[in-house]
Amino acid sequence: MEVSGSAEGFGSRIGLRSRLLLLVLAVVVLLQLASALAVQLGTAGFVRARAGAELATAERVWERFYELRARRLLAAVAVLAEDFGFREAVASGDAGTGVSALLNHAGRVDADLALLLGPEGMPLLAVPEVDAGRLAAATGALLAEAGGQPSLGLVELDGVVFQLALVPVRAPQRIAWAGFGFALSDAVLADYQDLVGVGAQLLDPRDGRALAASEDSSDFAPADLVAVDARETRAVGDSVVRRVQLPMADGGELPLLLHIEYAQVARPLNELRQRILVSSLLMALPALLLALWAARGITRPLGLLVSAVSRISRGDYAGRLDVGGRDEVGRLAGAVASMQLAIGEREARIEAQARTDGLTGLANRGRALQVLESIAADRGSPPRRLVLLDVRRFAEINDSLGQSVGDQLLGELGRRLLALAPAAVLARLGADQFMLLETPPSEQDPQPRLREWLHQLARPCRIGGADLRLELCAGWAVFPNDAGSGAELLRRAQLALGDAKREGLALCHYRPGREDHHLRQLRLMADLRDAESRGELHLVYQPKVTLADGRLRHVEALLRWQHHELGPIGPDEFVPLAERAGLIQALTRHVLGVALRQCAAWEAGGTVVDVAVNLSALDLAEPELVPTVATQLEAVALPGERLILEVTESAVVRDVELAIRQLRELRALGVRIAVDDFGTGQSSLAQLQRLPCDELKIDKSFVLDLTEGSAGAEIVRITVELGHRMGLKVVAEGVENVAGLAVLRAIGCDYGQGYLFSRPLPPSELAGWSRGFGYASLLPAAADTLQEPRT
Ligand code: C2E
Ligand code: CA
Ligand code: CA
Repeated sequence: MEVSGSAEGFGSRIGLRSRLLLLVLAVVVLLQLASALAVQLGTAGFVRARAGAELATAERVWERFYELRARRLLAAVAVLAEDFGFREAVASGDAGTGVSALLNHAGRVDADLALLLGPEGMPLLAVPEVDAGRLAAATGALLAEAGGQPSLGLVELDGVVFQLALVPVRAPQRIAWAGFGFALSDAVLADYQDLVGVGAQLLDPRDGRALAASEDSSDFAPADLVAVDARETRAVGDSVVRRVQLPMADGGELPLLLHIEYAQVARPLNELRQRILVSSLLMALPALLLALWAARGITRPLGLLVSAVSRISRGDYAGRLDVGGRDEVGRLAGAVASMQLAIGEREARIEAQARTDGLTGLANRGRALQVLESIAADRGSPPRRLVLLDVRRFAEINDSLGQSVGDQLLGELGRRLLALAPAAVLARLGADQFMLLETPPSEQDPQPRLREWLHQLARPCRIGGADLRLELCAGWAVFPNDAGSGAELLRRAQLALGDAKREGLALCHYRPGREDHHLRQLRLMADLRDAESRGELHLVYQPKVTLADGRLRHVEALLRWQHHELGPIGPDEFVPLAERAGLIQALTRHVLGVALRQCAAWEAGGTVVDVAVNLSALDLAEPELVPTVATQLEAVALPGERLILEVTESAVVRDVELAIRQLRELRALGVRIAVDDFGTGQSSLAQLQRLPCDELKIDKSFVLDLTEGSAGAEIVRITVELGHRMGLKVVAEGVENVAGLAVLRAIGCDYGQGYLFSRPLPPSELAGWSRGFGYASLLPAAADTLQEPRT
């Protein structure tokens, strides 16, 4: 499972918890931005609408304000016109009294303008004084419209706009017009603003200049204001403006601008917005804390999971994984826990399989070696006996009955072993080799028990309807008596098993020093390769003499090895090693060459003697043997008749046909064949009959202790007769004493070889020996005369 991929991005560098927090933070911020935007957009629209509504209200209030002032004006003028004293004064032309009453009344209502006109509208008096021409034009228009009735109107005089009321003064005919005016001054407009909270400005319709304003209105450019249509509401700069047209007495219109600042309308909303901002910021804090808590809730179990998975990947399956919860993470944890269990089980199974032999169910070699190693690890471990068992000729069973029968046999053996020694460590080490490692019970001699086991194990097996007989052999060794470690124990038990096999024993205990012997063999095998080039090999020659008259006829070439460190090594030791090391053919070639050259040398020196050379079993199986012998003979220019090759019966048994063919070919060269060690092998008479040979060499074991009338003597007699009947010469080797010699002579054996005549000699000594050899002295005095040879 690939946990950390190649994507080395931002995400992989910061933890899941930080990412969750960032996510929540981003969501909170975005939500707040969105709500702020919504508030902003919503309030902007709202402010505009609200400003429009306020201005519309302000316009209505203006109308009321204007009307109320007009009524107050009219009422004040009407009171003046009804004032008796005033009428009297006007009628009588008493200007002083009239003016005083006029001003008196004007002062009472705070009028800004007081007028007295003639009955036809001729201006008579104006306080304060104004341009008479403009006054006449303005009042004229007003009076014309009124038709003799009191009238109200808006006039502009000398740059000041007045609300003007004119009332006829009757006595009872109309004798004059009295009028009061309220100036629409800055102060009035300021009053109005105080009342409604909306600024007002009167404009000169001609150039848009302010005639009066509720406050300093320099913010507005006249052009902007003129562009605003009547009754229209429009944004100008930071304000919203509404234009109202006031009708003038002269028929014109006077623009009144009502204006209000956005900021003023928006002020409560701004407060609201601030409160929303503060409260949402306050809300963000718990949201973050909540996110922190939630992230912890997710990342803590994930963290547990991660450490569990890495624990599993290290091969530790023991830990418990308890995340809790039924959510996805909880379910994932459950899955990981069951995966851990499954992997653990599978690994245990695989491990067990890796330690088990599939065929028998016992431990396999690897496991066995492990157990043995553990013995070495602890010097204080209790004694152990290691028994190695081997099925004799198992390969033959496999070959002849088939592998499946072989397998069944091994399986059955495994079961029997388990039944016999359930407490022991049992393993199959190799094809047909089993191991039994037990803590040895305290018993005097374990052999009877082990033998009984072997007996039980070797009971016939019923496989495929047939009873199979088994032959087992075993070797054993004990820790710590025979070996100091498990590995040594195995090696030594193996050596014991090898001994049992070689020696045909059922049971063999490790022999002390056996391993040293084994090591020596290994060393010799290695050193043998260089023995010839080191000049450590030489031949000695043992004479064979005719038993009839003691003449030297043959010598047997025997190989000697003078090891540079170990001293003389006997052929009985190194020849089998040479065979095992694959060196025997080279060795034979060497011996042949040296022996034949020696033979030629003797002949040149006047000693004519045939030479016998020993062949190993492997030589006969080597097709190059005959050509080699032929070339060697040619090389020294000797006829084949001068060479005798000694072969053992068992050498022939290996590959009878090839051996017989080679022997025939050798004989065709004139070479004689002697059957060595005759009587010890297992060959049959029929086989002997087929064997192309010239001599039988009776094995020295029959000859060494030969005495008159002994069982050995009888065997030798039969052998000699047999040989003669087959037309063969018979040689007795191992002639050590005169008694034996007498028996052999009596039987009629042809040749003798033995210490009685001579030990094997270095080549230089042969001639001297030959000259000094006194055969007669070996013969009993009674039979003084030499026996005639029978053939
Ligand atoms: P072998 O062919 O049976 O040789 C005869 C052995 O008997 C020789 O031992 C010889 O020294 C010994 N012997 C002769 N007379 C007596 C006697 O009166 N008493 C006793 N006790 N022993 C006697 P050696 O030289 O130790 O050779 C042992 C075996 O080694 C030979 O048995 C032969 O099988 C093998 N061998 C020796 N040289 C060669 C060789 O060059 N090639 C091969 N392939 N094998 C050789
Ligand atoms: Ca021999
Ligand atoms: Ca022999």
